Amino acid sequence: MKEDRKKSQKDGCPLAKKCGGCEYQGVSYEKQLEKKQQEVKKWMGSYCKVLPIVGMEQPYHYRNKVHAVFDRLKNGTVVSGIYQEGTHNVVNVDSCLIEDELSDEIICDIRGMLKSFKIKTYDEDTGYGLLRHVLIRRGFTTGQVMVVLVLSSPILPSKNNFVKALRKLHPEISTVVLNVNDKKTSMVLGERNITLYGKGYIEDELCGLTFRISPSSFYQVNPVQTEKLYEAAVHYAHLTGKERVFDAYCGIGTIGMVAAKNAREVIGVELNKDAVRDAITNAKRNNMKNIRFYNDDAGEFMVEMAAKKEKVDVLFMDPPRSGSNEAFLSSAVKLSPERIVYVSCNPETLARDVKYLTKHGYEAKECRPYDMFPFTGHVESAVLLQRRGATPAH
Ligand code: SAH
Repeated sequence: MKEDRKKSQKDGCPLAKKCGGCEYQGVSYEKQLEKKQQEVKKWMGSYCKVLPIVGMEQPYHYRNKVHAVFDRLKNGTVVSGIYQEGTHNVVNVDSCLIEDELSDEIICDIRGMLKSFKIKTYDEDTGYGLLRHVLIRRGFTTGQVMVVLVLSSPILPSKNNFVKALRKLHPEISTVVLNVNDKKTSMVLGERNITLYGKGYIEDELCGLTFRISPSSFYQVNPVQTEKLYEAAVHYAHLTGKERVFDAYCGIGTIGMVAAKNAREVIGVELNKDAVRDAITNAKRNNMKNIRFYNDDAGEFMVEMAAKKEKVDVLFMDPPRSGSNEAFLSSAVKLSPERIVYVSCNPETLARDVKYLTKHGYEAKECRPYDMFPFTGHVESAVLLQRRGATPAH
């Protein structure tokens, strides 16, 4: 293990130590998969069988979303990259083993343009300066690229010339958005978006469907693995075309829309209003008439549905890292779906929620880990839970 790590620092990423983003930098990919398998087994093994993790063939440059924070060193040099772990010092990054390579190039070029456009980087301590972050999202299937310039003010001097110069270097850029973040906050994006060029969003394709993605909407960062994960999740749902399906924490509507092809009706709920707007547009764009989206807290929405004594046949749930909550889970049980498909990016909160469900009438049947985030310590899983007494679909 120590040998492994030493080797990586020599052969792998030179920034691994400072960055801290890749816990498994320098650990062989096979070993990484083994560790993640063990991790999921540790949390989920007592509830159901844990199938072998689905890894990647090419575990590099998989991230379709790249973020860089901008800063100026004492000697005046502009840097862009990541905060050194546990500090506010920015470590300059030219390229990263897990990020999209084109996005990294665009960020370097933006850094190079700042001087001639007299754009100052933002200083976190004093609050002076303009450019805080750059966020790039790329549709790997469509090739569309979105550049989000996060500024402390809505005014970017010579913005048209800046966009023109950037597009000259990278004609593949489809849209440039100015995001205003004027708060003292560690959040990257502010609330206001001003489109400087193009449509203000990009599109990507997943599982044969087209999805529009706005700057602040959640979209899985690893589309290659996401397709495998969604297909497995929908397979677990065992849809025949007759079911009423609920997609909780639905983001831009991805899982629900893949399921809608084989369901009678799908209802999606999501807290982020931009994501819901994207989801509604996405349903129209893909000509889906049997899916509806609601902008609400999933827990509160569930409680209301349970109070109305509504029923659903299948529940998909894909909450953030913190997992779900008791309001949601207790109401989910009242809606008594035959199957619950839980997609999770945190095995610990997954196990906690599965514990609740198994105590309240459900049985975990199977869990499959997916390596969505190679080289990092994170692991995604899909779990099938079946209502006790329901006819098993598998
Ligand atoms: N299923 C989607 C998104 C999963 S990420 C996909 O696969 O792309 C989790 C989503 O839950 C995010 O879009 C986030 O905005 C949303 N979310 C977080 N807390 C929520 C809550 N309390 N109620 C509803 N949605 C919530």
